[in-house]
Amino acid sequence: YQARRTAMGYALYAGSLDEDCTRRLTLMGELRRAITNDELRLYCQPKVDMASGRVCGAEALVRWQHPQAGLVSPGEFIKLAERAGLITPLTHWVLEAGFCQAYAWQESGLDRPLSINLSAQDLHDPSLLDRIRGLFATWGNRPELIQFELTESALMDDPAGALETLSRLKQMDVELFIDDYGTGYSSLSYLQKLPVDAIKIDQSFVMSMVASDDSAIIVRSTIELGHNLDLRVVAEGVENEAIWERLATLGCDTAQGYFIGMPIQAGEFSDWETHSRWRL
Ligand code: C2E
Ligand code: MG
Ligand code: MG
Ligand code: MG
Repeated sequence: YQARRTAMGYALYAGSLDEDCTRRLTLMGELRRAITNDELRLYCQPKVDMASGRVCGAEALVRWQHPQAGLVSPGEFIKLAERAGLITPLTHWVLEAGFCQAYAWQESGLDRPLSINLSAQDLHDPSLLDRIRGLFATWGNRPELIQFELTESALMDDPAGALETLSRLKQMDVELFIDDYGTGYSSLSYLQKLPVDAIKIDQSFVMSMVASDDSAIIVRSTIELGHNLDLRVVAEGVENEAIWERLATLGCDTAQGYFIGMPIQAGEFSDWETHSRWRL
């Protein structure tokens, strides 16, 4: 048991372990089992078109239903998965679950795209593209039902590799998003070369845009930049109506955040939608 051994080794070396670190090491050891044991859960969060106020898609956000620890958030285990070399099987699980969900919605008359997060390491997974092609073949080739999000910092880790993978994904006619935009220091010339359709402004700027002039300026100029490059602009972290109003004034295209809806179990999404003011 790798993590336990590591934990003991570290404990010997450091003398003691704080609770946080122990938890992380334990989780890391259990993550492999979680993926094969069906402990992952697909949650979805709505995206709303600001002009019409209608749901225009959803983002797949994975959670881990841990038998003892309860629901663990991806903030806690995605980085662990990357470090433990487990991001490939995790992404594969999310792809399977996500395709299945997007096509189930479509069957039930809800024609909405589901966007799936890819991590930096997925760009080096030689089986990724064939796997995605295979899923499209299995489910009936509807590229408009699936989108992919890649963080700006993942793009900047390996700009050439990212460009290559994004171009191949684009050849499948899926829409591509740059996630957490504003935190990864990409250059305008690189951004221009990428075959992406939209940028998602990082929630740290959006959440604070009413209280902080600096954040408001970053949000405004990102929307302008996006539109000048012919990209749609999504704001994440829309937590209240004041933020929504400001974004609407600035011409932001799409909003996502607690003001609209929390991430919920994929299976409960249609129900949520039927009772929400954002219904299609
Ligand atoms: P992200 O892709 O930028 O997703 C947005 C995160 O912000 C989600 O956190 C979401 O629950 C949270 N959020 C949404 N609206 C609000 C809001 O109004 N206020 C605040 N404070 N937060 C909001 P979550 O689900 O914990 O996911 C965290 C990150 O983990 C994601 O950030 C994404 O980078 C990563 N992640 C999640 N699922 C996957 C996955 O399947 N694969 C990979 N590679 N990464 C994933
Ligand atoms: Mg995302
Ligand atoms: Mg994001
Ligand atoms: Mg984020």
